[in-house]
Amino acid sequence: MKSLWDDREAAFFQDDELGLRVYSARLLGARPDLVLHGGGNSSLKARIRDFLGRELEALFVKGSGWDMKTIEKPGFPAVRLEDARLLAELDELSDPDMTRQLRAALLDPGAPSPSVEAILHAILPARFVDHTHADAVVTLTNNPDQERIVREVYPDCLVLPFVMPGFVLSKQVHHAMGGLDLDRIKGIILLHHGVFTWGDDARTAYENMIELVTRAEDYIEENGTADAVRASHGVDLFDLARIRRAVSRVRGTAQLAILDRSPDAQGYASRSDVDEIACRGPITPDHVIRTKRIPVILPKRTGEGVPEVEAFGETYRGYFERNRTEGLRMLDAAPRAGIWRETGTLAFGSSIEECGIITDLARHTRWAVQTGETLGGWQALSEAEIFELEYWSLEQAKLGRGARPGPHQGKIAVVTGAASGIGRATAAALAEDGAAVVGLDRHPGVREQFGDDGIICDVTDAPAVAEAIERIVERYGGLDIAVCNAGLFQSGELLEAQSDELWDRTIAVNLTATQRFLKAAIPYLKLGVDPSILIVGSRNYAAPGPGAGAYSVSKAGVTQLARVAALELAAAGVRVNVVHPDAVFDTGAWTQDALARSAARYDMTIDAYKKKNLMKTEIRAVDVGRLLSAMASDVFRATTGAQIPVDGGNDRVI
Ligand SMILES: [Zn+2]
Repeated sequence: MKSLWDDREAAFFQDDELGLRVYSARLLGARPDLVLHGGGNSSLKARIRDFLGRELEALFVKGSGWDMKTIEKPGFPAVRLEDARLLAELDELSDPDMTRQLRAALLDPGAPSPSVEAILHAILPARFVDHTHADAVVTLTNNPDQERIVREVYPDCLVLPFVMPGFVLSKQVHHAMGGLDLDRIKGIILLHHGVFTWGDDARTAYENMIELVTRAEDYIEENGTADAVRASHGVDLFDLARIRRAVSRVRGTAQLAILDRSPDAQGYASRSDVDEIACRGPITPDHVIRTKRIPVILPKRTGEGVPEVEAFGETYRGYFERNRTEGLRMLDAAPRAGIWRETGTLAFGSSIEECGIITDLARHTRWAVQTGETLGGWQALSEAEIFELEYWSLEQAKLGRGARPGPHQGKIAVVTGAASGIGRATAAALAEDGAAVVGLDRHPGVREQFGDDGIICDVTDAPAVAEAIERIVERYGGLDIAVCNAGLFQSGELLEAQSDELWDRTIAVNLTATQRFLKAAIPYLKLGVDPSILIVGSRNYAAPGPGAGAYSVSKAGVTQLARVAALELAAAGVRVNVVHPDAVFDTGAWTQDALARSAARYDMTIDAYKKKNLMKTEIRAVDVGRLLSAMASDVFRATTGAQIPVDGGNDRVI
């Protein structure tokens, strides 16, 4: 592993030690094979003055909630060093007391809580201390022959057996270091966990870390092979949607299922021994809160109900019962990670971010596991030790910070005509309520608004629509909410002068394209979680106007289509509902000129024209979007085949 230290960059922080601390912590954070997603921690000891001007020794240690990759100065809260050191002298210290006393030792009570390893950082006498869970080191310390290997690779390090992180680990190090000459020790190797290094300057601590990790990498290169198996296979999207539904059922809430089909993920999933080597436990214990102890192993072709997921839940219950202590409540029994034979690895979670973390952990885990196998095998911590970590309140606290989940958390939605107007507002409302939303639009602006989740697609191109639906299922694991919004509105042609072209085009976009879209989406929606189809109709359906024949007929057509769909799909649990909005004017489609012309036709001011309804209110795109999102939620769980106006009240509709 190459050192990323750059003297010119470091020179910026000549008189700013905390700045230098941030700089080298970020060098560690930049390497995912050193620390991943909040793993690892760093610290600095420095003399500072407190608020009242008194000089004291402070420990700046990584605060919880910060990631080494992006950490900044406020991510290193300062605690009184002496207080933190004295805590290590205690014979016992409960987790709540440790958390409270470390907070009490903060110089700023508003700062984030210090890392659970703060006491350990305090007792190491060097000024800069670094800690990582480097893949290569963890691979060696998970070897059945770890003692021999570690002694050979790290004769100048203190090697300690696994104990629980936090106070217990601090005590272990405190005892082990008594009487040792620290100048002759390069670092601490914690079996099944990671590595600590230190130095009186930032560079020494950092480069000692790089050196120790490089030694592990060299050992692996000489004695094993880091080459992963690679493979390339197709995926059955219906099986993927079935797996996702089964996991959501056990979790009790909708989950995304993000598949990693990279050649090395498929290669790992194609190993004949994968069910055995992947199910020994995590490579470093703090992964357990993200991944659970083991992944679910799925056959290449799943059955209808995917019994393996249910069985995973049963196994988890057994694991809980075997290891529980008095008063402990079981977490949900759903898997977070999956190995899908020959197909790849799966991450299950409530958000794209959560799944991304699990996918990253899986990638590093399979590297370490397969590399370990070539070095004579790999073994994880015991089930009981992993359980203790999984149910450790200080670990679980790391997960509990998210905002309250929205009604669509973990759900997958598609909106047509998403680049503007009602479609755009609906996509925003669904996303705000927690859904992963993919926008379809023939306008390229959909890419700017949705990034990779924007698909340029003309709804009248049926094969392109079907392909778009498949892309969504492949990306997120299924489909739950389909909003048929794309539409065309042109009026001003009386029937006797109706152009065939406008008629055909209106029917094609507003009606036929909706039928084709539903045809492609329904098979996946039937496998969705609380699935729902939403059709954007129009006030014109119940209250048509002269000169809008093609439009009114097309909206009557989709309304009838929705009623039939509601009848056909109720048995599969798919709800189908329609909203009938009046014109929304807060979109690009309505220019000032067009508004003025329409208002003049009714002999109204523009303002009066916009509010020509019983409640004298303007209908905005966001009103329609929020209603559609609500209708996809379980507030409307018992409603299907309904038509709801969003028109401010219209005497012809009422
Ligand atoms: Zn650690």
